[in-house]
Amino acid sequence: MIATPAWPPRSLQRLFVDTPLGADGVVSVEGAQAHYLATVMRMGAGDQLLLFDGVSGEWLAEILDAGRKRVTLVVRQPTRAQEAVPDLTLAFAPIKKARVDWLVEKAVELGVARLQPVVTQRTIVDKLNLERLRAHIIEAAEQCARTSLASIDAPLKLDAFLRGLDGGRALYFADETGGAPAPSAFVPGPATILIGPEGGFTLEEAAAIRAVSNVTAISLGPRILRAETAALAAVAAWMAAVGDWG
Ligand code: SAM
Repeated sequence: MIATPAWPPRSLQRLFVDTPLGADGVVSVEGAQAHYLATVMRMGAGDQLLLFDGVSGEWLAEILDAGRKRVTLVVRQPTRAQEAVPDLTLAFAPIKKARVDWLVEKAVELGVARLQPVVTQRTIVDKLNLERLRAHIIEAAEQCARTSLASIDAPLKLDAFLRGLDGGRALYFADETGGAPAPSAFVPGPATILIGPEGGFTLEEAAAIRAVSNVTAISLGPRILRAETAALAAVAAWMAAVGDWG
């Protein structure tokens, strides 16, 4: 049986544009995006690619003119509706640069809606370059065919994070000292997963976390995982159990 080729072809380039898209609209991209299309990918007039604006879904577009500094495209037709990613927030203690970039990229690929850095007593990195991380979020969304962008907020200290929690939202606290086994601990509904720093939470912090309403301590197995591994494992388990992998 001849397989029907996917449409739009998944081989088409995908680009996020920070401007509202609509049929027959004309869009220009400049700087790194123009360089990427015209010089790196050697694309020119007539070539097609996929665009998304993070709000209105994905669109097929065609290049009208490709210069090294500016590429002009016309939006032809919608190809996919805006996805509704599950309402999952990943709250994590910042870790070293290369590893936080990796964590953010993987969280986007797995479908996390929101990222919240949380500064704890043993956090070694308390400053994050949010612009750089937002660029990573866009790149990961382009790669994994998301139509929505995960958001990332400015870092919060743990006490402010706990104070700002919405009591109606489940908080899953990844605790290597013990908790309910991750997949079966999850119940459907909006959720936040909290991952600690390399040095772990202090006893006072763990007690403060366990004292908030609607909190469940979860275990990610018998081994001590690195923070970014724990984040990935917890998000994957949540997506499989109650997220959109069903
Ligand atoms: N404090 C620990 C130590 O040094 O023994 C290690 C902390 S671990 C590197 C970083 C974070 O990952 C922890 O704070 C926890 O949130 C999460 N984590 C790691 N392994 C875990 C497990 N097996 N179960 C639940 N959470 C885990």
